[in-house]
Amino acid sequence: MAAAIISAPGRLRASRLKLLPSSLSSIMARMAWFKRDKKAIQTPVDEERTVRTEGLFTKCEDCKSVIWKKDLEASFFVCPKCQYHFRITARQRLEVLFDDGNYEEFDAELRSSDPLEFVDKKAYRSRLDSAVRSTGSNEAVVNARGTLNGVPTICSAMEYRFIGGSMGSVVGEKITRAVELALEENTPLIIVSASGGARMMESFLSLMQMAKISAALARLHKARLPYVSILTDPTTGGVTASYAMLGDLNIAEPKALIGFAGPRVIEQTIRQKLPEGFQRSEFLLEHGMLDAVVNRREHRAFIYDWFDFMGVV
Ligand SMILES: [Zn+2]
Repeated sequence: MAAAIISAPGRLRASRLKLLPSSLSSIMARMAWFKRDKKAIQTPVDEERTVRTEGLFTKCEDCKSVIWKKDLEASFFVCPKCQYHFRITARQRLEVLFDDGNYEEFDAELRSSDPLEFVDKKAYRSRLDSAVRSTGSNEAVVNARGTLNGVPTICSAMEYRFIGGSMGSVVGEKITRAVELALEENTPLIIVSASGGARMMESFLSLMQMAKISAALARLHKARLPYVSILTDPTTGGVTASYAMLGDLNIAEPKALIGFAGPRVIEQTIRQKLPEGFQRSEFLLEHGMLDAVVNRREHRAFIYDWFDFMGVV
């Protein structure tokens, strides 16, 4: 009896232990009542919701108003409400400038040969390949000839989406060729800048382009052929320090960022706070660095009037 009493708790424990797996499973079965066995109702996430309207509307990055994309295209990608200038591609730029959006591209086949076999986080060659795929251009500038209000004109338009519109040896070569073609065909030249500056992956070869293009522009100047530089958002570094500021007429789009070094670098160097609107088109115009700030919708008419003034019409 005593043995039975002593052994009873032990037996009990054993029987509890034996029971445990089955009781756990019964608890789990009851837990299922709380859990959702069926798949939850799928509600579309925000991204999916916007897909349906993606092709039709866009939001102004400045005033935040919703704009019908067709309206935006018709106004050359300038917000009809606040005049904010959206960044546009090189090809869209050429369509804005040339009559009926028609132009003939030249030197499209030129590509960088990666002379320094440069590798940073990624190989330069693979950066080039992905830029070619995403922009449909072989380099960060598109050369074209066409007519501007009937005036035959050569234009080099920079493509910011191609490695930040950086100026490598091919960009330099293509712009130089555009200048030389303007000389050969006796036509005015327009260069549209949109660039983060020289291309570090080509090191000194990029820097040499500043001198090369400037020398070609000097020949154009000697031949008394007009050169219009259009500075768009953003125009910085070696591009600002060379051909973008060498135009017979230097015009910029409203509120475009134009400068050499970035504002933070300047602040740290001179140890002073920079004034409001520093490095924007309007500030530069006020300080004599530009001839005019012109709305993109007026570019063609403005340049044509100036061609007329220069006697090329
Ligand atoms: Zn707006």
